[in-house]
Amino acid sequence: MLQPEQQRRAYLRAMGIDVWLPHDQQDDAPADTESPGADFSPAELDWEALQQCVADCTRCELAASRTQTVFGVGNHDADWLIIGEAPGAEEDRRGEPFVGRAGQLLDQMLQAIGQSRDRVFIANILKCRPPDNRDPKPGEAAACRGYLERQIALVQPKIILAVGKIAAQNLLGCNDPVGRMRGKVHALGEIPLVVTYHPAYLLRSPSQKKKAWSDLCLAARLAAESSA
Ligand code: URA
Repeated sequence: MLQPEQQRRAYLRAMGIDVWLPHDQQDDAPADTESPGADFSPAELDWEALQQCVADCTRCELAASRTQTVFGVGNHDADWLIIGEAPGAEEDRRGEPFVGRAGQLLDQMLQAIGQSRDRVFIANILKCRPPDNRDPKPGEAAACRGYLERQIALVQPKIILAVGKIAAQNLLGCNDPVGRMRGKVHALGEIPLVVTYHPAYLLRSPSQKKKAWSDLCLAARLAAESSA
């Protein structure tokens, strides 16, 4: 299994970013033989081929229980890339991310910053629904990773907004709680990344919406700076 820091470096490499490390910190084992994602990168695929590849995917056990894959939705040239965790029941039925109650709140959050579902691109760490809405297993995230890497490389967003713990931890390769990751500027290669609470959590804890608003404002500022 890839360690979080190795996973972060794999993302950077997939985006064509050289990662320079002292000799003694280099990954000695280039391929992780246990992980189905380690030797896989659909790095040459265009949108259409990538979407087909995802639709046909059987790289992990979730292929057996999904109704359909949930590729992602939105503008292929978006400034904003929103990354969530995994499809839920409603998303699995409809084939689109964030269409349940959490999705409606996400739409309102986007509207509040002058964005919308068709202006941004929305994707998830996993393209298939984990049964009973359990957390993604590390092997599932690894199996799916190449698809998200390719989506990031194709969109080339000005800002990545990671919503929720699972998305943020997978993208940043750490185990920190959202409370420690939010409110700061992170980066995925050269792309600034902001972490905020998952809208499903905000539905349960509306008192945290103020913090989410401040995260969105931070992300909007960073997006504007990289457009300048
Ligand atoms: N939660 C997510 O993280 N993604 C979805 O697509 C739906 C709910």
